[in-house]
Amino acid sequence: MRYDYVIVGSGLFGAVFCHEAMRRGRRCLVLERRDGVGGNVRCEVRDGIPVHMYGAHIFHTSIRHVWEYVSAFVDFNGFVNSPVANYKGQLYNLPFNMNTFHEMWGVVTPAEAAAKIEEQRREAMARMAGEPRNLEEQAISLVGTDVYERLIKGYTEKQWGRKCTELPAFIIRRLPVRLTYDNNYFSDTYQGIPIGKDGRLDGYNALIEALIGDADVETGVDFLRERAHYESLAQHIVYTGAIDEYFGYELGELGYRGLRFELERVESENYQGVAAMNYTDSETPWTRIIEHRHFLRGKAESPVTWITREYPAEWHRGDEAYYPVNDDNNAALFAKYQEKAKREKNVIFGGRLGEYKYYDMDKVIDRALDVASGVE
Ligand code: UDP
Repeated sequence: MRYDYVIVGSGLFGAVFCHEAMRRGRRCLVLERRDGVGGNVRCEVRDGIPVHMYGAHIFHTSIRHVWEYVSAFVDFNGFVNSPVANYKGQLYNLPFNMNTFHEMWGVVTPAEAAAKIEEQRREAMARMAGEPRNLEEQAISLVGTDVYERLIKGYTEKQWGRKCTELPAFIIRRLPVRLTYDNNYFSDTYQGIPIGKDGRLDGYNALIEALIGDADVETGVDFLRERAHYESLAQHIVYTGAIDEYFGYELGELGYRGLRFELERVESENYQGVAAMNYTDSETPWTRIIEHRHFLRGKAESPVTWITREYPAEWHRGDEAYYPVNDDNNAALFAKYQEKAKREKNVIFGGRLGEYKYYDMDKVIDRALDVASGVE
């Protein structure tokens, strides 16, 4: 056979796996449905500004070996994510921290903020039965009703297209709550936006290209449509697409959340003064506006700027799937697909879609390294 591995999908999982397999002397063919490699971390440079085409990606991790791994291919620019929430024109710092609580209640000390949260939590808890059972209860027990109503409820219900009372609590536990004046959205040890070792600004593309190296690549091809052909090229398949699609949806469709991006070139050097502004009310149809140049921390020299309005969207078969919807029904269905996947002896399923998991980039890389360590 011509290859050892046909890797379906050139996002982080596929690219890292490819690199590791090649390093071990294996022959790889990478397939990508889109016209360019990189999956959802792909950027396109417009007016000298790398535009995150499939949603903003800010790299952050506390896994040292993952940080060291990616740092061998690209540098990081020290960007720290400090988004601002816009609730009907009123601005609040994120994540939920002393700045937010000061803006919300005028409190100054951590003790005052804690007392305020506790007071609101106690009132709400009286209506709850024990442990938080859903996202609403979890959010109120973490930050109280005011923050929940203004900064969480509208945003979350837009984002997921369902009531906070019908969403799992874990989604909101992704966000830190701090009684310090620290606007760093992430609590991880390492963070930044990649830039090429040669200064190339579209660092995510540089990373993916370096990982794939001189492996063979075919873009604009659909593995599932030409399955017999591609399966005949290698003993093993690494599949990073949606697991239910791989099986022809034969047990039913898993739930995904879609997104729609509206990209706009604006005749301004600085549109909103921050990389990410979240619109947390329920009326504004978009969830956030990303201004890409700010990811470069002043390094973009363009007199114009590029912004993306991000709209949540219902997902229908054939659309890009962005987020798995990890509720009980989907978890049960995924478990059944996983049983089938185990019986596909020569196929490895990986990544956000292959493993149906709300993975961050660093966890995907770590998982790919782990899986690739078993390369025969
Ligand atoms: N979230 C929120 N308000 C915000 C930002 C986030 O309520 O201003 C909640 C929302 O439920 C969202 C979750 O936190 O789905 C996770 O947000 P994160 O920024 O991690 O989402 P991602 O960047 O992965 O889309």
